[in-house]
Amino acid sequence: MDLSYGQETEDYRKEVKTFLTANWPLAGDEAKMPREDGARLFRERAISEGYLCRNIPKQYGGSEQSADALRGQVIREEFGKARAPMEPRGIGTMMLVPTLLDRGEEWQKEKFVGPTIRGEINWCQGYSEPGSGSDLASLMTKGELDGDDWVINGQKIWTSGAQRADYMFCLVRTEPDEKKHAGISYLLIDMKTKGIDVRPLRQMTGSSEFNEVFLNDVRTPKDWIVGKRGEGWLVSRTTLKHERNSIGNAAQSLGLLSGLVSLAKSRKIDGQPAIEDPGVRRELVRIEGYIRAHQYSGFLQTSKGLKDENAGIIAMMNKLNSTNIGHKVAHLAMEILGDDGLGAPLAAGLGTGTAGSSTANWLSQYMGSLGIAIAGGTANVQRNVIAERGLGLPRDMAANRSK
Ligand SMILES: Cc1cc2nc3c(=O)[nH]c(=O)nc-3n(C[C@H](O)[C@H](O)[C@H](O)COP(=O)(O)OP(=O)(O)OC[C@H]3O[C@@H](n4cnc5c(N)ncnc54)[C@H](O)[C@@H]3O)c2cc1C
Repeated sequence: MDLSYGQETEDYRKEVKTFLTANWPLAGDEAKMPREDGARLFRERAISEGYLCRNIPKQYGGSEQSADALRGQVIREEFGKARAPMEPRGIGTMMLVPTLLDRGEEWQKEKFVGPTIRGEINWCQGYSEPGSGSDLASLMTKGELDGDDWVINGQKIWTSGAQRADYMFCLVRTEPDEKKHAGISYLLIDMKTKGIDVRPLRQMTGSSEFNEVFLNDVRTPKDWIVGKRGEGWLVSRTTLKHERNSIGNAAQSLGLLSGLVSLAKSRKIDGQPAIEDPGVRRELVRIEGYIRAHQYSGFLQTSKGLKDENAGIIAMMNKLNSTNIGHKVAHLAMEILGDDGLGAPLAAGLGTGTAGSSTANWLSQYMGSLGIAIAGGTANVQRNVIAERGLGLPRDMAANRSK
């Protein structure tokens, strides 16, 4: 197996490095800018040079580069090493923008894509309901046409970031007489609209990242629908594919591994650095094996993409691999920390990114790893998808499936 990228790509890497050396970190007066403003300025330059927002047309604020998985990989690697800002990592950029580009109306792309990728507006995802999670198509929130508006009534739950969001993309039942998957539409809602009540839910990490969202006679314009009426399920599949791919990136696992190795070097077990402990070493090697397999599956997926081949089961396994690894890493970190891990204050956030070496971060990563295995489709449901669609095994006998 040849894992080298080839001369042309390595020449491109030099270009990327030259750009980064000249532009990040910001220098002179620019270095004094508030962090977010500095990141925004850098992103503008990176977009104009073709390094960020590569698959987004110029007219919507992207850099419109032809698809090139290897160049994309080189950019991720070099920006990662330089700790330079990539595209904002919000629900809007990762899920809504690709969905609008695939299925949105022209005016929707013009209105929403640019401000979203520039980080000027934030989105939340209104899919789950108290009785509809894995069986999402059973959702009950109702949308009825009244003149030029949809009128929405119902309740969403686990809505991440709703308290900070400017808009929500959500699934509502608009065709109550159709079969369950065919009765759903994909609507956009301005979160400032009258009738929306957002109530934060406190998580075991101590923070309140997600919320209940109550919708009482909430009006949204008739044309704020993505895809056709009753085709929201199809549209939502596009969004979910992007959500799972973003959760299933091996770069995050490699970052976690290096944090774990530093922890094992710096903490002691029975007076010895933890990394000398045979049990810790065995588990570290096992985890590294999982991570390398995940990384090489990613390479295989990239090379299939380059040949326009369907990555099939490899893509389906991404999210499951990544969340399993995140949990195993955090579990070993907690074992190394021992009693110290129990009394630590919690770091903010869901713990989905790289965990630094602080005890608080590891505890947060541990708790967050349980949540992220549920978000975007639970691990068990992922296993069903892999078994049924990837391996062709017989379908699960869940009672509601054929409705
Ligand atoms: C951190 C986090 C962030 C989230 N953010 C959002 C958000 O922004 N917007 C949003 O809409 N939702 C969000 N969610 C909700 C998430 O999508 C749901 O929690 C998820 O789809 C599971 O649904 P549920 O919680 O109703 O569990 P259920 O579907 O009730 O599942 C309960 C258990 O049963 C198992 N199970 C269910 N069906 C099957 C089956 N057919 N075969 C095998 N096992 C099965 C599941 O694996 C699970 O273990 C978030 C969740 C988390 C944890």
